[in-house]
Amino acid sequence: MRVAMYYSNQDVRLAEMPVPQIGPGEVLMRVEASGICGTDLLEWYRLHKAPLVLGHEVVGTIEALGPGATKLKKGDRVGIAWIYSSCGKCKFCLRGDENLCDQFQGTGLDANGGYAQYMTITEDFAYPIPEIFSDTQAAPLLCAGVIGYRALRLSGIKSGQILGLYGFGASAHIAIQVAKHRDCKVFVFTREGQTHHQNLAKKLGADWVGATGDTPPEKLDAAIDFTPVGEPVREALRILERGGRVVINAIRKINPIPELEYAKYVWHEKELKSVANVARQDAMDFLPLAAEIGITPEVQEFELGQANQALALLKQGKIQGAAVLKIP
Ligand SMILES: [Zn+2]
Ligand SMILES: [Zn+2]
Repeated sequence: MRVAMYYSNQDVRLAEMPVPQIGPGEVLMRVEASGICGTDLLEWYRLHKAPLVLGHEVVGTIEALGPGATKLKKGDRVGIAWIYSSCGKCKFCLRGDENLCDQFQGTGLDANGGYAQYMTITEDFAYPIPEIFSDTQAAPLLCAGVIGYRALRLSGIKSGQILGLYGFGASAHIAIQVAKHRDCKVFVFTREGQTHHQNLAKKLGADWVGATGDTPPEKLDAAIDFTPVGEPVREALRILERGGRVVINAIRKINPIPELEYAKYVWHEKELKSVANVARQDAMDFLPLAAEIGITPEVQEFELGQANQALALLKQGKIQGAAVLKIP
């Protein structure tokens, strides 16, 4: 089968690999579409295990079932998210927080991902894709969408409350649609001068837009910080309502969170929480909800052989919506 593979310190290149063997409880999936996530650009991520087939927003059709796999059937259309597997036995797995499992394995990180014609996965980690989505539309929902949804869930925001979003990229632009569907008021904060992001936020229903550091007309009941920098965390805490929560949706921060003066930023039961990728239930809850709301991500399609070019365009900020590999 053809794959686009990343070799240490090189570009993503086409390669030939044998079709993977199906193990017990696994399914073999013919990949139809694989989203390109910003995470795929990160050096530390790529060097985690090279050579590597990237891709953790994968949509495909079940081609074959391994021994003991009984829940899915041949021909089913399923999606795969960032969580590839977990131990299934530890206290985190048992309570549905398998994203916190010590043995968490990432798709396209610890295991080969979706920049390929085929991939295998344990059937419990593949989720049905609602019919209304095309293969390429469904792909970005599986990372940006599901993670944005988890962040929203962890924020504890309720209908009618005020939610702040810091940074307005792939995840936030889906999260705002869910928040508006729940009748939340949404205030969006971007970097100074990011008018295209602010305009998109307004188009998607933002009740107020401004720059990080601005003070909106009302305090935030909860906030989600999608940025890779430290300052928005303190800014969100500054304008957070008493008893509110700030959720950080970032794998890494490139600079530290500034010092938090207790009385000003923490007092009055303010909470701070991070989001660590996703659990299966997030995908199972979010995909039907996205179909119900009618969230349709804007996508730009590429062929498998154009993976490197698509990654370069993403790095330069030249992709409209989400970049997705369409794999014949
Ligand atoms: Zn991702
Ligand atoms: Zn576990």
